[in-house]
Amino acid sequence: MIGMIPNSQDNLVDIILNTVDDPMIVTDGHGVIVRVNRAFEDSFGWRAEEVKGKTPKILNSAKHDSAFFEELWQSLKADGFWEGHIWNRAKSGDELNTDCRIKAQLDDNGDVLYFVSRMKVEEIEESTGIRNHDQLTGLPDQHLFLDRLEQAIIAVKRVDKSVALLHIGIDHFSTINDGLGYDIGDELLKQVSQRLHDCMRGSDTVARVAGDLFSMALQVASIDDGVIVAEKVLKSIQTGFKVNGNNVNITASIGISLFPKDGETASDLVKLADSALHHAKKNGGNAYKFYAEDMNIKAKNRIEMEAAIRKGLENREFVLYYQPKVAAGTEEIVGAEALIRWQSPERGFMPPNDFIPVAEETGLIGDIGSWVLGEAARQNKAWQDAGLKKIRVAVNVAAPQFKAPDFIDCVLNALDNNDLDAQWLELEIVESMLMGNTDMTIKKLHEVRDIGCHLSIDDFGTGYSSLSYLTRFPITTLKIDRAFIKDLESDKTMAEISRAIIGMSQGLELEVVAEGAENLAHIDFLRENGCQTVQGFYYSKPLPADEFAALLKIGSIKHG
Ligand code: C2E
Ligand code: MG
Ligand code: MG
Repeated sequence: MIGMIPNSQDNLVDIILNTVDDPMIVTDGHGVIVRVNRAFEDSFGWRAEEVKGKTPKILNSAKHDSAFFEELWQSLKADGFWEGHIWNRAKSGDELNTDCRIKAQLDDNGDVLYFVSRMKVEEIEESTGIRNHDQLTGLPDQHLFLDRLEQAIIAVKRVDKSVALLHIGIDHFSTINDGLGYDIGDELLKQVSQRLHDCMRGSDTVARVAGDLFSMALQVASIDDGVIVAEKVLKSIQTGFKVNGNNVNITASIGISLFPKDGETASDLVKLADSALHHAKKNGGNAYKFYAEDMNIKAKNRIEMEAAIRKGLENREFVLYYQPKVAAGTEEIVGAEALIRWQSPERGFMPPNDFIPVAEETGLIGDIGSWVLGEAARQNKAWQDAGLKKIRVAVNVAAPQFKAPDFIDCVLNALDNNDLDAQWLELEIVESMLMGNTDMTIKKLHEVRDIGCHLSIDDFGTGYSSLSYLTRFPITTLKIDRAFIKDLESDKTMAEISRAIIGMSQGLELEVVAEGAENLAHIDFLRENGCQTVQGFYYSKPLPADEFAALLKIGSIKHG
């Protein structure tokens, strides 16, 4: 029997992996494949030696976009876990629908050692290619959908998320069947199913559960995610269809129930979404309704806010305030951060936290962000032309804005249109935007630096990222988050963290800026520990442009 005992740890790992009947892939922390099991070889047709050293990208099918993988990566980094459906490609080119679970294994420092993926390949009946799928559209049927909904509920229980169940009905579908014939009706349903498919993310499920009734199960981090998809669906269905040469215009109604808010079981959620759909239809259709009334009020507020932001942009209701960055040794103004405010005639004077999140969710952040870039560049150039001391002005960049394909063009336009030299513009991004470490992120960051702009990490220390990215990304500045500075005096740990960040930035030759210094004790601490640049209420609150200019004319901020 001695001969049966594995002679090395390596062997033992293989033996264990091969006892699992589902395909498994183990990658290192950088996503490079180090092991696969026999079930993987059998299902995907690749031999272990062929895939070791490669990344799971070799399995990419054309069915998912880069946003899908970015999201997958982000939730892996944040939760250490991801679960969902992925269409993978086998060596033969066949596409396999897999239920995939990926888990990060961490070392003692919290860095990722391995990602372990286990997949269940969904069976497809050879003869027809369909099983548990609707014959007409190829989408999962009601039976499979319930199964997926139950799986989604189990998955979110572990990670403290919600599931949104959307029941989507086509308004007055019978008039299409009656008026244009069943062939056209069927073709329309096929096209609708494609559009619905395009509205969701890869980890979600859409199914055709009855004649003109579709269902979607979404894993959502916040309730707003459900709203975003519902709005997307309504918009997408409203866009005209061309069916066998006929132009067909339709609308849809959506009922939404939420786990765990509204119900605990899949069947309860289905009943509640049905009831919500009934309400949506009763009010004339082309609308979505939540089962819970408080959600409908929230959704209504959001829609009104979106319309108001749009109007605000047209009516030039947004302004930039400027908060000085001060050299702690000399008290000289060395820079500024541009911070947006909204002077809304209806809602009053609003800080960014009250409207930026909605702008980010609705895509309006693109317009707001490019306005901010242009306005900050224009103002800075105007100050330079007026003979004031030249300073770098920092602008906050939101994640969806940074991800947009035209982001670099927006930056270039802001500089060119205002004839501002790039060295006077700094972009502030947050740690989470670096997660995923995609080629696209790295490329864009380098483009920003190549243009000549500075690049800082805002709210540093509050994100989840591993510190190793600091050497991989072309960052110039770290901004220590206000949370650490605020409690410097009362909390030793905060002081230690601040000290560590300052020390680290010195070692990496990065500029370091402390945010939120409010009193002399903060300033003294920062000065003593080598943080040269400070931004905080101790020196000045964010000011309207003219007041900031007056301060810049003096050039420094003296106290006492
Ligand atoms: P942030 O970029 O971290 O900006 C610093 C925030 O801290 C500002 O709040 C500033 O007023 C506040 N602050 C600075 N010093 C102190 C201090 O000593 N004590 C206290 N209590 N607070 C201090 P604000 O202006 O309300 O901005 C909040 C956040 O909104 C910003 O955080 C930024 O993330 C976002 N934001 C502001 N303007 C823009 C913008 O134009 N675009 C985007 N995407 N986001 C923006
Ligand atoms: Mg900032
Ligand atoms: Mg900050």
